[in-house]
Amino acid sequence: MFESLSERLGGVFERLTKQGALTEADVSTAMREVRVALLEADVSLPVARDFVAAVQKRAVGQEVLKSVTPGQLVVKIVHDELIQVLEGEDEPEALKIDNPPAPILMVGLQGSGKTTTTAKLARRLSEREGKRVLMASLDTNRPAAMEQLAILGQQIGVDTLPIVKGESAVQIAKRAKSQATLGGYDVYMLDTAGRLHIDEVLMDEVQAVRDIAQPRETLLVVDGLTGQDAVNVATEFEDKVGISGVVLTRMDGDGRGGAALSMRAITGKPIRFVGMGEKIDALETFEARRIAGRILGMGDIVSLVEKAQATIEAEQAERMMKRFQKGLFNMNDLRMQLEQMLKMGGMQGVMGMMPGMGKMAKAAEDAGFDDKILRQQIALINSMTKKERANPQIMQASRKRRVAAGAGLEVTDLNRLLKMHRQMSDTMKKLGKMGKGGMLKQAMR
Ligand code: GDP
Repeated sequence: MFESLSERLGGVFERLTKQGALTEADVSTAMREVRVALLEADVSLPVARDFVAAVQKRAVGQEVLKSVTPGQLVVKIVHDELIQVLEGEDEPEALKIDNPPAPILMVGLQGSGKTTTTAKLARRLSEREGKRVLMASLDTNRPAAMEQLAILGQQIGVDTLPIVKGESAVQIAKRAKSQATLGGYDVYMLDTAGRLHIDEVLMDEVQAVRDIAQPRETLLVVDGLTGQDAVNVATEFEDKVGISGVVLTRMDGDGRGGAALSMRAITGKPIRFVGMGEKIDALETFEARRIAGRILGMGDIVSLVEKAQATIEAEQAERMMKRFQKGLFNMNDLRMQLEQMLKMGGMQGVMGMMPGMGKMAKAAEDAGFDDKILRQQIALINSMTKKERANPQIMQASRKRRVAAGAGLEVTDLNRLLKMHRQMSDTMKKLGKMGKGGMLKQAMR
C-alpha cells in the first residue's frame, strides 16, 4: 500500500518545534514528500512540480497554531490547494443543453468507456432531468460498437438512431440532427468512433462531425487509470477538436486519481463526471473534495484536515476577538471576515445572524452586497501591500489607483471598501469596549 502523506510528513516534522511560522527549509523538505505522493498518485511530473511550487509559496510563513502539528497544517494546505486546482476558478455550470435539440459530442479513445458513458449520461439526463434523449453511434468501423449502443439504449429506455449500413460518420450526424429536430428531442448525443491511438483520420472525422453538429458540449471520455497518457490525449483533443469538459472513467479502480489533477491543470477544462463502475448507473458528478482525499492517499485525510481546519478557525476567531477588544481591525481581519462570509453564504446571511450586527447587515444590503462583490473586495485587499493592509489609512490617491487597477476595479470600488472598513472598525471598537463577556463574545459564537 501507499504510505499516506501525513505519515510521510510526520517524519519530516518530528524534529520541529510546534509553534512559530513554517520556514522555507521545513517546507522544502515537506514538499519533497508531497511531490513523491503526487507522483505515486499518477500526477504528471510537470503538474506535480507546479503544484508543489504553488503550495510552497502558500505554506512558507504560515503560522503553526497551538493545536495543530506542522504536518497537519501542511496536509491542510496541500488539500486546499488540490481542491482549488481541481475545481478551477469558475463555478461549475450545468451542461449547456437548454436549446432543443442540443447536441452533445462524445469523444475519446477506443476502450476509454465512451459508449458506456454515453449511455450512462443519457440515462441520467432522461431520468433525472426528464430530457428526451436520442443517441447515435458514429463508429462506422465497428458494427459491434453500434450494436452495443443500441442494446444499452434498450436497457435504459433511451432511443437510438436506427443503424443504416454504409453511411459515413458525417451522414449519421446529419441524420441524427434532423431526426432529433423532427422527433422533438431535447438532446442528441453523438458517440464518435474511437481509435486505439490518436491519428489524423480520426481527428479529421471528429472535426467534420463537430462542424455539422455544432455541439453545445463536447465531452472527452478518458480512462482515469491511464495517468500521463490521459493528459496527452486530452491535450490532443483540445487542440484539434476543442472540448468543453472531461469525464474520467474507471475511478472505481485502484488508481489514485492523479489524472484528474493533471487533466484539470493542463487543459483547464472542468471534469464533469466520473465513471465509478461498469453498471449503467455508475456515473457520478465530479467532486473535487473526494478526489483530493484520494490523491493524498488516505481515507481519513478529509476528516483529519477538517478537524485541523475547525481548530484553526476557532483559534483565528479567538485571536481576532482579542484584536477587536484592543480596537484593532485591519484589512487582514476584514479579508478573513469576507472569506468566512463567502463560505457561509454571503454577507447578509452571516450578519443577520449575529446579535448587534443588524446595522451592518443593513449597510451591506444598501451597498448591494452579493458574492461577486465579496470576491471583488477580497481582490482589492489582495492587491494592497502588506503595509497598506495593516494600515489602510495611508492610502492616498496614487496608492488607491494602483490597488484598484491591480484588482481590475475602479477607485470608487476601493473607496466603498475603505468606508465599510472604517464603519466596521468603529463598531468593533464599541463592541470591544463592552468587555469580554459582552456582545462581541456572543456575536463570535
Ligand atoms: P469505448 O470503446 O470507449 O466505447 O468503451 P466502452 O464503453 O465499450 O467501455 C469499455 C469497457 O470499460 C467496458 O467493459 C465497460 O464496461 C468498461 N467501463 C466503462 N466505464 C467504466 C467505469 O467507470 N468503471 C469500470 N470499472 N469500467 C468501465
